[in-house]
Amino acid sequence: MTRTVYLNGDYLPETEAKVSVFDRGFLMADGVYEVTSVLGGKLIDFAGHCARLQRSLDELAMTNPHTPDEWLAIHRELVARNGIDEGMVYLQVTRGNPGDRDFAFPPAGTPPTVVLFTQAKAGLADNPVAKTGWKVISIPDIRWGRRDIKTVQLLYPSMGKMMAKAAGVDDAWLVEDGCVTEGTSNNAYIVKGNRIITRALSNDILHGITRAAVLRFAREAQMEVEERNFTVDEAKQADEAFITSASAFVMPVVEIDGAAIGTGTPGNVATRLREIYLDEMRKAAV
Ligand code: PMP
Repeated sequence: MTRTVYLNGDYLPETEAKVSVFDRGFLMADGVYEVTSVLGGKLIDFAGHCARLQRSLDELAMTNPHTPDEWLAIHRELVARNGIDEGMVYLQVTRGNPGDRDFAFPPAGTPPTVVLFTQAKAGLADNPVAKTGWKVISIPDIRWGRRDIKTVQLLYPSMGKMMAKAAGVDDAWLVEDGCVTEGTSNNAYIVKGNRIITRALSNDILHGITRAAVLRFAREAQMEVEERNFTVDEAKQADEAFITSASAFVMPVVEIDGAAIGTGTPGNVATRLREIYLDEMRKAAV
């Protein structure tokens, strides 16, 4: 099936959507993105993703080309045109095409490049992997210092995924100064004695939209949450571990660097949080 994608105001067959070779996104990774899940044809936590997009654009002195209502209308139109029941909508805004390559930002008024496309993923919510969990390895976190901005500069996370693949596992947890920052494309948590431990928000990690919702639900369910750094050794000795992201939701982690975490099977806290998250977010989907 040929997807219909969105490019700068037009809905086009994917084969007809063309972006300049001078686009700042292509030449400089000068762009930001968002990924919003679709369940039952509706958008999950759309307001959260829209708010973070605004923050990423503000941090890079880029103008938001659309209002939240306009973004919502584009998302919905793409979901409808592509008949997406379960999957994701990817959105990217770059600093546009200045007509040449230059390190300096293009003059104000240079239009951004806006691209959105859908990815159909049947069984996203009923993912059988959630019943067995992910295995991870730890690798050094050598990314830049503004990981709170959701830029399209994803080379090291891609390399991390390849290192995980080569090691026969599902993902890599990134480690800086002895402590886990986050996963390649998700936030990382351990559970010790019913206490959920995850790194506090700073420029060191992406401020996960799923993280915010899951911590809110955890607190509402009277679970204890501690936002602080944790080490790989602590993870090895934890009762359970998990990750969160917009497309994996809450995914149990059962092994790190070959050491089983807890019983080596998905834990109760992660399993319960996944259920609560999916229930609540389906109810609030737009
Ligand atoms: N950290 C990183 C590095 C990510 O790439 C992502 C997902 N894009 C996340 C965390 C999770 O964020 P979210 O819950 O908003 O998908």
